[in-house]
Amino acid sequence: MMTEIIRHCGGCHCGKVRFEVMAPALLEVTECNCSMCSKAGYLHLIVPKSRFTLLSGQECLQTYQFNTGTARHLFCSVCGVKSFYIPRSHPEGVSVNARCLDEGTATGMQVSLTDGRNWEEFYPQGRGAPLQD
Ligand SMILES: [Zn+2]
Repeated sequence: MMTEIIRHCGGCHCGKVRFEVMAPALLEVTECNCSMCSKAGYLHLIVPKSRFTLLSGQECLQTYQFNTGTARHLFCSVCGVKSFYIPRSHPEGVSVNARCLDEGTATGMQVSLTDGRNWEEFYPQGRGAPLQD
């Protein structure tokens, strides 16, 4: 049986960056313990690019990169909030910060853990499993 995909909206704190993302109502998200995600408290909702649309704020986005430089950490230059970015585990997709979604569409979250601190052991292929459109 197919899980129904619905539209969620979200964005940064100041409202410059706004996006929509297509995902189930019951969100499957991951919490990562790497140096970046643990400090930011980021909750990953990873989707194919085809399910993500940036509605506004492209001109406000700043990029921060470190380590392998694969991930493109995007944050709002006005308020500093990282509401989505291009993740190292899925550079062909988008990771939306589930904490930045507007209230009212998600019915809940199932959280699993990513051991990003031990990246090579957790992702022997160097990447996460391919995303399904
Ligand atoms: Zn902002």
